[in-house]
Amino acid sequence: MSFLNISGKTFLISGVANKKSVATHVAQTLQGEGAQCVFTVQKSEQVSQVEKLFPGSQVFVCDVSQKGDIEALGKELSGKLDGFLHSLAFGNFSEGPKPFHETLRTDYLEAAQISSFSLVEMTRALKPHLSPSASIVTISISNTRATSYGYLGPIKAMLETSVAYLAKSLSADSQIRVNAVGAGPLKTSASAGIPHYIENYLFAEALTLRKKALETQEVANTVAFLLSPRSSGINATTLVVDAGMSCNGFDQDVVQKYAKD
Ligand code: NAD
Repeated sequence: MSFLNISGKTFLISGVANKKSVATHVAQTLQGEGAQCVFTVQKSEQVSQVEKLFPGSQVFVCDVSQKGDIEALGKELSGKLDGFLHSLAFGNFSEGPKPFHETLRTDYLEAAQISSFSLVEMTRALKPHLSPSASIVTISISNTRATSYGYLGPIKAMLETSVAYLAKSLSADSQIRVNAVGAGPLKTSASAGIPHYIENYLFAEALTLRKKALETQEVANTVAFLLSPRSSGINATTLVVDAGMSCNGFDQDVVQKYAKD
């Protein structure tokens, strides 16, 4: 038996867009440990991508901006789930970077529904399928205090607070745990849409204590641990995975470079 003890367990994985997605790395890690994965994707065009990456897997289309899709998922699923990964987000940055106070109401509400409240709605739909000690994990960011994530920052803060509220409400009749992984900047398609992302990614790398960018697999390893029964004592919290970046705002190499320029 491997340490994670998830062989034969089944997990629902949302958010596979391509091979670089956080969700792809998580599913590969879980399968490597002998678990099975069932997938949800946003669009029907993404089904073939999941089938290519994970041949023979069951894939459901669930655009979380559509209430009906989430309800249908709950009805279409069969069998028990030992866990659920919520790994999706959306923010409309098509007009480029804007000061936070210029954020459009429509953009903010859409992003909040897709990137945060969908965790609550999906949990409600999946609850009848979740085993009594299942684990739910969502992906947040390493620091929600005015970072480079634009107006998605406060929405991620809302997501992290929802994690605690969900953990508490589910505890009324189950031992289902809910946690978030607060990931530092990664190279995925979601991040590519955020204004000035590459510059911020390189800056983040310079701020890691090891001077080497965070890898998506490192986030996936933490997610797999949180989805597994080995993390049974961890509930209603965010585990930060950022290679020490958040504590290193005054990195001396970065400070000296600034002083010279
Ligand atoms: P990704 O683009 O590979 O995945 C994002 C997923 O969100 C896609 O599969 C997309 O289809 C899905 N999605 C968007 N709108 C949706 C909708 N309406 N319905 C259903 N699915 C929808 O990028 P990723 O980096 O793997 O993102 C996964 C999670 O990780 C996100 O929550 C993101 O905010 C978070 N995260 C990413 C980084 C980073 O630097 N990439 C850092 C911290 C946290």
